[in-house]
Amino acid sequence: MTAIPQTDRTAPLVEATAVTRHYRVSTGAFGHKATLHALSGVDLSIPRGAVVGLVGESGSGKSTLSRLLLGLETPTAGRVTLEGRPIAEIPRKQVARRIQPVFQDPYSSLNPSWRVADLIGLPLAVHGIGDGPSRARRVRELLDLVGLPGRVADAYPAALSGGQRQRVAIARALAIEPEVLICDEPTSALDVSVQAQILNLLLDLRRETGVAMLFISHDLAVVEHMTDRVAVLYLGRVVEQGATAEVFNAPKHPYTAALKASVLTPDDAAGLPDLALGTVFPNPLDPPAGCRFHPRCLRATDRCRTEAPATRDVAGRRVECHWAE
Ligand code: SF4
Repeated sequence: MTAIPQTDRTAPLVEATAVTRHYRVSTGAFGHKATLHALSGVDLSIPRGAVVGLVGESGSGKSTLSRLLLGLETPTAGRVTLEGRPIAEIPRKQVARRIQPVFQDPYSSLNPSWRVADLIGLPLAVHGIGDGPSRARRVRELLDLVGLPGRVADAYPAALSGGQRQRVAIARALAIEPEVLICDEPTSALDVSVQAQILNLLLDLRRETGVAMLFISHDLAVVEHMTDRVAVLYLGRVVEQGATAEVFNAPKHPYTAALKASVLTPDDAAGLPDLALGTVFPNPLDPPAGCRFHPRCLRATDRCRTEAPATRDVAGRRVECHWAE
């Protein structure tokens, strides 16, 4: 078995520092290459036991950041650490032991030809935890933990509702007692009627197990309900970050204020049509000079069009705006 590399228990559990992720992509019919600026210098930390929210529009870089935090990709620049140790230096299996994902779509994340008991028991088998009988007992415990009856163990995913499938996916993620769950839009594929049940389940699990979470969503009301801290992502930059209640009650960045004032659509791909931000939608292939938000900002000045704002401490949170005060 591979030894766990040395870590620093006083460091944040998971931390992204100045993380940049660019991709070379083909554009147009002639194979012209361009750089997609998915993330540009992002700082984010997930303390032990905390629930941190990450909000932003489609294309803001939310899912890229989740893949980096899971160790599934490496940053172009900057670093992601697990208790102070670069994730890139830790064996993949050891990272998976401590950080687990909960994906958006429970329909595609569960193999339809496997029974629920095998789906939930797989991480135990992969990590060599327990034997057949003890794994079966653990599967029943996990089903109970996520509020499913024991008989579900013998079912195939096709026999379950969307909400039940997401409970199975959460049970599977918790099987090896990870310290962090990366929840990427975990309820947006579900009926509205079951979304609240899954959200409350996650909050109960946090209380019962102490698991930390990164909760990614474009739905501010959900993030406000679920999280202790929040980071607002715009075109690959964290533009505001702080305690959730403070950020949402008195936003200091014009983008956060616009998000708060808008009615969000449940369709992430549709962007945020009710924002009073004009028609210039963010394009990570061609981020604007100066402040990236300036083409849509109602407060933009000449300085904003030429000079990128630094991230500063304002009113107890981190804000990236020349005029945050
Ligand atoms: Fe708006 Fe200027 Fe602040 Fe950017 S720096 S958010 S353009 S006021």
